[in-house]
Amino acid sequence: MDGDVVVAGAGPTGLMLACELRLAGADVVVVERLAQRSDESRAGGIHSRTLEVLDQRGILDRFLAEGEPQPVGHFSGLFIDFDESESRHPYPLMILQSAIERLLEEWAAELGVRVRRSCEVSAIHQDEAGVTVGLRTREAAPGRLRARYLVGCDGGRSTVRKLSGIDFPGTEATMTALIGDVELPDLPEDYVWVRRTPGGDYSAIAFEPGWHRVITSEFDRAPERGEPVTFDRLRESLVRVAGTDFGMRRPRWVSRFTDAARQAARYRKGRVLLAGDAAHIHFPAGGQGLNMGVQDAVNLGWKLASVVRGDAPESLLDTYHTERHPVAERVLHNTRAQAALIRPGPQTDALREVFASLMVFDDVNRYLRHMLTALDIRYPADGDHPLEGRRVPDAGLKSPDGATRVHELLHGARPVLLDLHGGTGVAAAAEGWTDRVDLVEARSEDDHWLVPAVGEVPAPAAVLIRPDGHVAWAAAADDAAPGAHALGSALTTWFGPARRG
Ligand SMILES: Cc1cc2nc3c(=O)[nH]c(=O)nc-3n(C[C@H](O)[C@H](O)[C@H](O)COP(=O)(O)OP(=O)(O)OC[C@H]3O[C@@H](n4cnc5c(N)ncnc54)[C@H](O)[C@@H]3O)c2cc1C
Repeated sequence: MDGDVVVAGAGPTGLMLACELRLAGADVVVVERLAQRSDESRAGGIHSRTLEVLDQRGILDRFLAEGEPQPVGHFSGLFIDFDESESRHPYPLMILQSAIERLLEEWAAELGVRVRRSCEVSAIHQDEAGVTVGLRTREAAPGRLRARYLVGCDGGRSTVRKLSGIDFPGTEATMTALIGDVELPDLPEDYVWVRRTPGGDYSAIAFEPGWHRVITSEFDRAPERGEPVTFDRLRESLVRVAGTDFGMRRPRWVSRFTDAARQAARYRKGRVLLAGDAAHIHFPAGGQGLNMGVQDAVNLGWKLASVVRGDAPESLLDTYHTERHPVAERVLHNTRAQAALIRPGPQTDALREVFASLMVFDDVNRYLRHMLTALDIRYPADGDHPLEGRRVPDAGLKSPDGATRVHELLHGARPVLLDLHGGTGVAAAAEGWTDRVDLVEARSEDDHWLVPAVGEVPAPAAVLIRPDGHVAWAAAADDAAPGAHALGSALTTWFGPARRG
């Protein structure tokens, strides 16, 4: 074997996954088709839950140093307010995808992840013991790697998905959007963000001093297969939609996207798994794709490492599909709605006005905010405690070990059993798992924890937190002797059977 896991693609998803696998002790190699990191930046921002995930690993400061918090988010260009009580990071962070990838690659290097560039997956063969991955490299002879698992993080046109025969059903493109980072010397100083016109819409966002990101959207015009993307086409499109090219010049890069929305029918086929854009593509409204890919990686990484280590059975990998498929399904749904809301025409103008007037209501704003930030995700859970299945809030702690808040406990990407009342007996119940689960005793600084989409919940007596920050089990505040049976069953489900002695 050349490693436990081969990850195809060194985009945000592949890099994050490789780091998660390394943190959990798996041997991983990333293969990437490109010779060097791209300086193209499709994504321009990350949301609260992804910021929290980076915080959980202790690397958020690196991203905050290069990004700029925004005062509001948006749903199809209609503004959404944030609420400081829901997260320590209640803002979208504007940061270029190229910077995100650089920071993740630096972290991967620190963790000892091997990234092999100019190395493209071109064949896959899986058998009972592992996967053989055929590679096209710079060498004349094709290369190959043998590993126990392969994860395709190789983007929307995923070769891994196609070679594995995983279906990718969904809806076709109904529009064409062109994007470019350019200079716009004639853009009026009072220009703000996005304009709707009868021909479509366009936006010009100041990204870096002197540079704007221009996006034009034209409807009922899906691109032809193989249609080239050029600077001239972007200029022509801007003239069609805006009536002028604002003196557009010096393109750094131009690209195209559409509202095609597709999702892999299954996220796992034997020893091959899919994550990020390889598993789902959609209209990029609201900036959710990269966020979702990073969160796929954080859901999958610890599970796959646990199976590779021999702690958990292979069936744990099926929970990756069960938990993450519905998340992308919802994003495809909300981005289809956002695409519908930007089509030109008096009917959509009226619909937008009605929608905008609804968004004045707190409940509507909150609902959309939770959806875009992914703070409200609840994975299927057996128990009925309102925290179970949800991401654990980053509550303040008082602890003899010096931990001051919950997310800090997750830096090592290990499960944490947090005993908040002391002497509840959870330590004894978890004895068979102390090699895999960190037991922490602390006091909650607050009597109540705010859980998005649920509300205020009394701080629990004890809580079992998975490495991705989701709650596997929780004991109610007034539970003096939390059920050892339920805790033992949650520990077995997520982290494998107990080890004695
Ligand atoms: C205009 C636009 C704006 C966006 N804005 C946002 C935003 O603000 N926020 C957000 O969250 N998302 C945004 N997105 C979406 C985001 O860019 C993607 O969801 C994200 O890049 C997906 O990351 P990934 O790692 O899954 O795939 P990719 O970034 O596509 O990376 C895949 C990698 O795999 C490599 N690869 C491909 N094939 C092979 C192969 N056979 N072998 C080896 N390597 C291979 C590729 O070279 C690439 O490096 C936006 C998208 C667009 C188009």
